[in-house]
Amino acid sequence: MSHVINPSHVARVMKEKGISAKKSLGQNFLIDQNIVRRIVESADLQGEHWVVEIGPGLGALTAPMAEAAAQVVAMEIDRELVAILQEALAHPKISIVEGDALELDWRAVLEERGWRGEPLSLVANLPYYITTPLIMKALESGLPFAAVLVMVQKEVADRMLAPPGSKDCGVLSLAVQYYAEGSLVLKVPRTVFIPAPAVDSAVVKLVPRLPQVSAPRDQLFQVIRAAFQQRRKTLRNALKSLVEEWGLTLEELDQALANCGIEPSLRGERLSLEQYSKLTEELLKGV
Ligand code: SAM
Repeated sequence: MSHVINPSHVARVMKEKGISAKKSLGQNFLIDQNIVRRIVESADLQGEHWVVEIGPGLGALTAPMAEAAAQVVAMEIDRELVAILQEALAHPKISIVEGDALELDWRAVLEERGWRGEPLSLVANLPYYITTPLIMKALESGLPFAAVLVMVQKEVADRMLAPPGSKDCGVLSLAVQYYAEGSLVLKVPRTVFIPAPAVDSAVVKLVPRLPQVSAPRDQLFQVIRAAFQQRRKTLRNALKSLVEEWGLTLEELDQALANCGIEPSLRGERLSLEQYSKLTEELLKGV
């Protein structure tokens, strides 16, 4: 595997290959070997592990992960980078797949390359403009990820890990809690990227687990989304149109809130996932 794997050579490689980072694709390339090492270590890869990587860029993480794992399947949207990676990282343990990770069928991509249910992890320095949909896709994919390790903007990390009642708590925080156990692995300063982004980043580890609450998922998230859609409204007002859609009256909404011991004047961010689950189940009793 060639010099492209060495993050400290990124600037040189870009110059040699005539590449400029595309802001529209969220391209900020890692140039710090130490951060790369810590990310790869935190992924806890064993010899039989397969890794899905989103956005390999110039391969800063790809090659070190291939050294620790059985296979790295890396999906990259930028054709120019795909061509460089395919040449520089030509190795039986690495597949570079050209495409939009939001559009690609990850299971099919893996199975075409011989994945037969081996332990699987996702590791990515995510393009910031699609962070949330990519995390949601990973969590909802149904693939048995042992871990989802993502580098995101610090603000997004704060939202992912926000406890109920805090100002950062939102749909993403509740979705993360629903699907996984989340923890902060590493704070990453903006100076370790070329080009340096405007904000700092953080690495977050999600360990998927079975949901800890019992409400049916789709309806639970309809309630959560409705509650956060109009953040400034009280819970009662924010949920009005959803319950009407479900064929319930406002009295039934009030009753459900009362049965759960939830103050109707609260705002959405005050409720825990358990309270949302209970409220959803109460509402569904009337449907
Ligand atoms: N992993 C590299 C690193 O750490 O240096 C690059 C990370 S950079 C923040 C994000 C990468 O995701 C870029 O290479 C970009 O081209 C790629 N990308 C952007 N949108 C994508 C998409 N929809 N599907 C796949 N890759 C995408």
